[in-house]
Amino acid sequence: MLARMTLLTLLASEPPAILLVHDEPAARTLIAGLLREAGHEVVEVGSGVAALAALEQRHFPLLLAAWNMAGMDGVALCREVRGHAFGGYVYIVLLSSLLTEEQLLAALAAGVDDCLTQPVQKPLLLARLLTSRRVLALEAGLQAAKAETERLSITDSLTGMYNRRYLMQELPGEVERARRFGRPLSVLMCDLDAFKAVNDTWGHLVGDEVLREFAQHLQQGTRTGIDWCARYGGEEFVIVLPETDADGAVKLAEKLRLGVSDLLVRAVDGTPVPFTASFGVTGGRRGADTPEHPVLLARADLALYQSKLGGRNRVTLRS
Ligand code: GH3
Ligand code: MG
Ligand code: MG
Repeated sequence: MLARMTLLTLLASEPPAILLVHDEPAARTLIAGLLREAGHEVVEVGSGVAALAALEQRHFPLLLAAWNMAGMDGVALCREVRGHAFGGYVYIVLLSSLLTEEQLLAALAAGVDDCLTQPVQKPLLLARLLTSRRVLALEAGLQAAKAETERLSITDSLTGMYNRRYLMQELPGEVERARRFGRPLSVLMCDLDAFKAVNDTWGHLVGDEVLREFAQHLQQGTRTGIDWCARYGGEEFVIVLPETDADGAVKLAEKLRLGVSDLLVRAVDGTPVPFTASFGVTGGRRGADTPEHPVLLARADLALYQSKLGGRNRVTLRS
């Protein structure tokens, strides 16, 4: 995406909102007019302090500030902005009269991206705005790629569910919360029964479809935004149930187990593929009952093992 960014695609994108900081009203009005003509939304403020307050309120991708201002000057403002995390990159352009080399070095060291001499010339201003948009587009592309990489690193590619990495990352925090606030927490582990035979009889692609259907069933059967599910291993899943005690977790596991018989996966020839799942449940009534996460998982695993030993397609509780 970044490599294909042309001038045309840049111009087709929404011009970024600009925070214009200038303590001379006449010059500010003139520059604001040019920026608005170029399609930018412009918010005008008269001092560095007011600029910082505006940045606290919302994100401005582009900041144009006069170098010389009473109180906080442009370079000091830039230093302040770079010292904060304002919810995204702020591209900073300083407006100045003639600059000495020393001043320019100080500005660059403070984190200024670009400087423009005053009085501002329209063609130069427009060209510099385009440069800022290219840098901001690159920044947005990098942020999007980073977010996507983070999402992929915690997602199971077959089912779209959270993966084991996410489970091991987040479960300790759930245990901590339950203990600190004295709230119940249960964990449910489930595993498809005789799944090797499903693969052997109907093929791996059908096996994959069974996994997807089962994962979707688990997600749809649990409370959105509170409970969460993760693929723990091949055909093994863990459901974390904050605010749910062992009795509630057993009821939910029973509901999920029974619901498996309503799931329909067909083989290539249209034959319905039967499958079942076993469940292991553990949980406490109060937060203080909740053990560390490895113990919690080991108990759920043991309960699941007992369900398997007991003949499969059943729920076992182990507190
Ligand atoms: P049990 O009832 O004791 O759980 O028996 P089982 O056959 O389900 O358990 P076993 O551990 O013997 O086999 C698990 C199978 O799950 C074997 C493995 O090939 C299959 N499996 C694991 N991950 C995937 C996957 O992503 N897709 C498919 N199709 N199969 C998978
Ligand atoms: Mg299995
Ligand atoms: Mg298994």
